[in-house]
Formats: sequence, C-alpha cells, structure tokens
Amino acid sequence: MNHCPFGVALIGANYNDSEQIMSFGVSMIKPTTSNPATSPELTDVLKQSVVAKRMQVITILQSASTEFKAITFANSYGAEDMVLTDIIAKEKLDIKIFSLDTGRLPAETYSLMGEVEKTYNTKPVVFFPKHEAVETYVQTKGINAFYESIELRKACCHMRKIEPLQRALNSKQAWITGMRAEQATTRTSLPVREFDEGNQLEKFNPLSDWIEKEVWAYIRMFDVPYNQLHDQFYPSIGCAPCTRAVAIGEDVRSGRWWWEDPKNKECGLHVKAAKP
Ligand code: SF4
Repeated sequence: MNHCPFGVALIGANYNDSEQIMSFGVSMIKPTTSNPATSPELTDVLKQSVVAKRMQVITILQSASTEFKAITFANSYGAEDMVLTDIIAKEKLDIKIFSLDTGRLPAETYSLMGEVEKTYNTKPVVFFPKHEAVETYVQTKGINAFYESIELRKACCHMRKIEPLQRALNSKQAWITGMRAEQATTRTSLPVREFDEGNQLEKFNPLSDWIEKEVWAYIRMFDVPYNQLHDQFYPSIGCAPCTRAVAIGEDVRSGRWWWEDPKNKECGLHVKAAKP
C-alpha cells in the first residue's frame, strides 16, 4: 500500500502497486482489472426500470422547458450528464446545453467532447475562466496551490468553475443537473426540483433517484458515448489534479479532493446558500 503526501492510503485491491505512477490525480493509477460498475448485467428488471425512468425524465424535462423558456443544462461530461445529453438530443428538447472548461480537465474529457460533437452533430457551448484571474492565482499562489489548503482549493474552484457558471446562468430562469442522491453524503436528500438560492433560479435534478447501475445500463442500452476514465475506476471525474481512481465499494465521490473531509467535498457549483 502506498501513501500520498496528504496521508491518504492508495488501496491496492484493484491495482498493481508497481504500476502506480508518481503523480497526483487522473492517470495516477493504472487499473489491472475490468470495472464491473460500468458494465452491469442487463437483466430484464434493470432494463425495464431504465426505460420507465427514461420516460419520467422526459416528462420532467418537457414540463421544465415548457414552464421556463430560459432553461439550460450544465453538461460536465460525467456518466449521468451523458444520459441527460442523450435524452435531450434524441428527444429534441428545447434545452440549451453548456459546459465549463476549467483548463485542468483530463485529456479523456476532451476526447469525449469531440465524440459528443460527432454523435449528436453539435458544437459545444463552453465557458472558460477569466484569464486574468487564473494568471494572478498561478503567479501569486502557485500552479497546484489547491493542495495546500481548503481556502486555496475553493479559490481555485471559484475562479475556474463558479464564476464561469455564474456567467453561463446569467439571465437564465432554470437549470438542469445530472446529480443523483446516492452520489455523496452532501447529496442524500436531493430533490428533483428545488430553488437554487445561490444562483437565484430554479434547479432540476431529474436523475435524483437513479442508482449507479441504472445510469450504466442506460449508457449500454442506448450506446451513449462516455468518458473512458470511468472504466478505469473513476466514478466521478472533475479536474485532472483533483480526481483519482477509487476502490470497489468506496463512495463514488471519494476520488474527488480525496485529501479533504467528505463534508467539504463540493466545488461550490451545487452548494446551498447559507441561511441568514
Ligand atoms: Fe482547481 Fe481542482 Fe477545483 Fe479544478 S477541481 S477548479 S483544479 S481546485
């Protein structure tokens, strides 16, 4: 078993220690076994559940896009967001899709972006961070300063994610996410619809009650493109330096900011505003 400098054990259950690469984040560990989570057995019960839930999602999205003309979907290119991308594209729903490019995404995410362009015959709408903010942060704090403290990590997430998200949501009435309730301790009571206090608009989480197996069954049944890192034990993928593979049975979000307390592990995109 190896340890990173932050005191986190890198469990070797699924990986060959000799193949670990001395760097942090994406591509840190080379898997030596296939990932059962991304290829669930497609039983009739599972397929029926996915088909039924797909219809529920279509209903939610149709209703939301009728109620709110200025509605948008934030596609992070994770497995859940690929399910929603597929439904919005195939059902030709009147919902604009955008994504955020933090400048620190893994190469596999950019490959997927290109694949999505071809599969759905579309060009991505991408919001980037303001270059002045990034230049100042790097020059004053360092290129990987987010490892040094929660404050510096949140400052990085703010300039690379939250500020671009605020621009993306500017003048929108509602937005849609691919969040699921079972994804993290911070999301256990996730409703399908809620008011986003932080961004002051309506928010829909149509996959709230989906379990991981249903997400992957959908991807297999409908031949949806997905990030190849998922097959390498990355259930949740964000920026390359802040994402690592997880062992079977670990919380799906445990590979994100793995050096921090689980209660703090949100980047701020989906954090409720503090009540006065
Ligand atoms: Fe910065 Fe990491 Fe947050 Fe990405 S996930 S914005 S690299 S702190």
